[in-house]
Amino acid sequence: MLNGPTIAILVVFFIIRGIVYGKATNKVLLYRGYVYDDWFIIAFFFGLVPLLVAMSRPDNNANYIKTIKAHKTTTTSENTNWKCKKCKKINPAYTGTCSCGNTREENDAPLRALQERREAEARALASEKIRQDSELDNLLTLAAYKDLLDKGVITAADFEARRKELLP
Ligand SMILES: [Zn+2]
Repeated sequence: MLNGPTIAILVVFFIIRGIVYGKATNKVLLYRGYVYDDWFIIAFFFGLVPLLVAMSRPDNNANYIKTIKAHKTTTTSENTNWKCKKCKKINPAYTGTCSCGNTREENDAPLRALQERREAEARALASEKIRQDSELDNLLTLAAYKDLLDKGVITAADFEARRKELLP
């Protein structure tokens, strides 16, 4: 029967599996190039389905710089009205300074800093992925050379030279 301890165990289990699915799904999205998509909450509750949907999305890595640019223009568009964080007044787009003295530049600075950080993170992630991919390519190439060595097509000296090239 569902007594207190059983319910507690089920709740803990549900939370842990939710976190695992949430994190895994976001990781898949990130590695497929969807740097700004956050499906944590959806995957937390629905588990496998959002994870599978994330995995079946087309690879967006070639577009990720475009995604970043599009994101930037939608969130810092200078053509929209802006809300002053100090006095909560909504100011029209053409106004650079609120009546309380707060400037739009000052107002948007934290948002800009966040965007710059996310862009830097996305770039670092992309270059890390490129590095890992080229490492893997080198290992696969070396494995092919090892095969050639084993079949007597190339000499041990040839293989050693390739190895030094591919695994510096
Ligand atoms: Zn203000």
